[in-house]
Amino acid sequence: MVLECKHVWDYISGYLDNTLPADTLRLVQEHLDHCEICSAVLDSTRNILILTADDRVFELPLGFSDRLHARLDEELNNRMQTSE
Ligand SMILES: [Zn+2]
Repeated sequence: MVLECKHVWDYISGYLDNTLPADTLRLVQEHLDHCEICSAVLDSTRNILILTADDRVFELPLGFSDRLHARLDEELNNRMQTSE
């Protein structure tokens, strides 16, 4: 089974929250090890979570997922444009 980037992004909040099943966690980790885009996304997401999580750890605000995906699309587009 090969994870695509978009699938990995769905798992990132769970990855950071440490709630993924072990099998999924391993697949995501393997993907992150060789995918620069997703590594960057992970870093960005971690920063967002730190900014938004406050002292309540990883309790995501309403609409966070939509904003995250919008941001991820933006990130991916930027990466694609700059990697030429
Ligand atoms: Zn990826």
